[in-house]
Amino acid sequence: MLLFCKTTSMVLMQPSRREFIRTTFCAACGALLFPWDHAWAKEAFSPSDPHVREAYFYKRLADSAVRCGTCPHECVVVPGRRGRCRTRVNIKGKFYTISYANPCVVHVDPVEKKPLQHFYPGTKAFSLAVAGCNFRCLNCQNWEISQTGPDKTRNYNLSPDEIVSMASGYGCKSIAYTYSEATTFYEYMVDISAKAGKVGIKNIWVSNAYISRAALNRLCDVIDAASVNLKSFSDKIYRDLNGGRLEPVLEAFKALHRRGIWMEIINLVIPTYTDDMEMIKRMCGWILENLGPVYPLHFSRFFPQYKLVQLPPTPVEVLEEAKETALKEGLHYVYIGNVPGSGDKTVCPGCKRTVVKRRGYTLVSNHVKDGKCKFCGTRISGRWG
Ligand code: SF4
Repeated sequence: MLLFCKTTSMVLMQPSRREFIRTTFCAACGALLFPWDHAWAKEAFSPSDPHVREAYFYKRLADSAVRCGTCPHECVVVPGRRGRCRTRVNIKGKFYTISYANPCVVHVDPVEKKPLQHFYPGTKAFSLAVAGCNFRCLNCQNWEISQTGPDKTRNYNLSPDEIVSMASGYGCKSIAYTYSEATTFYEYMVDISAKAGKVGIKNIWVSNAYISRAALNRLCDVIDAASVNLKSFSDKIYRDLNGGRLEPVLEAFKALHRRGIWMEIINLVIPTYTDDMEMIKRMCGWILENLGPVYPLHFSRFFPQYKLVQLPPTPVEVLEEAKETALKEGLHYVYIGNVPGSGDKTVCPGCKRTVVKRRGYTLVSNHVKDGKCKFCGTRISGRWG
């Protein structure tokens, strides 16, 4: 028997009698669960729709249900329903993405805006998003496109070939999958990346890093860089603030490191949630121990929005204290984001001279030659071209 939550569309597979008694409420939202009835199937997508493609990672289960294998939520989805990210539907026992070739945002950005400070500075990144996300961050700044599905937004109709040719036409060094959660339009991202790589365009995954091991492994074959959020260093905060878990995120960071993908780590410092210096210290210690000192860490300033409008913006002194803590722990490159003037320079860890200078997102000077400081020869980690 299947149990079903009408609010989240979550399904519990064939519970035992004991589980049935224990689990009459949805673990995700607390609403009462109901026995699944196929009459509730309501999604009207067809595999022949141009924006529908069979998902790369899922398993077929009993009763025509499927288990998604793209992210650690591992949604069990019955026919006619979609997963938590709102981008994947079960059509008659097969699982499909509905976020293929239908981006709702397409833009050309400086790569520094991703933010990536050590990845071909001064170049342009062709940036795109399809609506949807597998998190529920209370502070989301793009909630209009992340907390909805691709069938609810105004979209462009752009195939992977068209995206690559537009990126090339605009003189972009890279394509960035960004603004919403790129993992939820995984198939589209992977297909574009494979085509872009063949013509020398780099690929940037901007993500919460909440992805399954198998999906990340395949993604690493086609991407060059990742701008990844480490939202906190507490599983409880991940559950309360973001609707995810910490452990799979840490595993994704380790996998990116093993696969040699360039990454920059973003930590949003939110008053009362993620501004605890002891936690920040532990997070930096984990980065140092597991990834080394070479990946830039960006402490980003929070501004009140979405469901956290009652909080004040992060005081700049708190961000400076976090930066000081990270440098003391031994990280080589630490930036402050969302504060004008604060992320403007890269300092050589050897001679302490400024090797890259920026004004906002604009590159002013670059003294990194062949990946080394022009003044003292110390290696500056990143991808410099
Ligand atoms: S990508 Fe994640 S949230 Fe979306 S359907 Fe799959 S498991 Fe669920």
